[in-house]
Amino acid sequence: MPDILVVGSLNADLVVRAPRFPQPGETISGSDLQIIPGGKGANQAVAAARQGTSVSMLGRVGNDSFGPELINNLKQNNVDTSHVQIDSQAATGTAIIVVDANGQNSIVLSPGGNGQVSPADVNAVSFSDYKLLLLQLEIPIGIVTSAAQRAKESGLRVLVNPAPARSLPDELISLSDFILPNETELNLLTSQPVHDISSAEKAAKTLLERGAQNVIVTLGANGALIVSSKQVTHVNTYKVEVVDTTAAGDAFIGGFASALLRNKSLEDAVRYGCACGALATTKFGAQPSLPTQAEVERFIT
Ligand code: ADP
Repeated sequence: MPDILVVGSLNADLVVRAPRFPQPGETISGSDLQIIPGGKGANQAVAAARQGTSVSMLGRVGNDSFGPELINNLKQNNVDTSHVQIDSQAATGTAIIVVDANGQNSIVLSPGGNGQVSPADVNAVSFSDYKLLLLQLEIPIGIVTSAAQRAKESGLRVLVNPAPARSLPDELISLSDFILPNETELNLLTSQPVHDISSAEKAAKTLLERGAQNVIVTLGANGALIVSSKQVTHVNTYKVEVVDTTAAGDAFIGGFASALLRNKSLEDAVRYGCACGALATTKFGAQPSLPTQAEVERFIT
């Protein structure tokens, strides 16, 4: 029986490199198209599965050629896809990404099936089969909140990654056992400036006042900060040669959740998440850079 249920997004990332961004009305030549499985939900599901944790994904893809490819990719990564539906009315969620010669991104996100995840989809799953629910914000916020409610009724722990950055209803904040924002997300969530450890602590404490239990702020090369009513603890990350920071946060979350399920303390789980995030920055890409359990264990010993 799986340990983690991810209710979230699956996207096809369509990536083209170009010398620069085109002007309105202009056509320019780019590199060959790369089609890469993505979506924060699917990335975090794969991140946790690579840590040897059993994971199920709930979501929707569209009735086009990308849908089955995304489902197959999850299966190849040992993620259970029996709760991923093919929506006959929708396109698959896509991120159309142009990368210029300086490595800057320009992205158009088309939610497609991710926007069609329905209350019926959530109600069809037996939450008590799982131990932990993992949520992000690339599906409708009402679905995120109702999944969190069902999880709490069934005794699961609820972990919310408030990405992409936006504000959150207080109800969702108080249903969460763990809220894991990066600095930008914490800033948007709280309308407080977040630029270093002490400002992150101050902003995270405003989430405690709104009903959060544990806030874990990821701070890039500065590691992570645990803020709860019991503790404020800064955890250092590992020194690495950074190649590409894409998916560091997803790797952190998959590793952190897996470590919690192995009964590690909160601080040790955050340290393990930091090792996963640090390792992810040493490779290019999103899912290809998510480390396995064996890689993390070699790295930290
Ligand atoms: P996101 O990818 O969501 O923006 P962060 O940049 O905060 O998230 O990265 C998530 C985690 O990955 C950090 O808490 C840290 O542990 C690790 N990490 C990210 N960047 C680096 C880095 N340059 N060096 C070492 N660890 C890093």
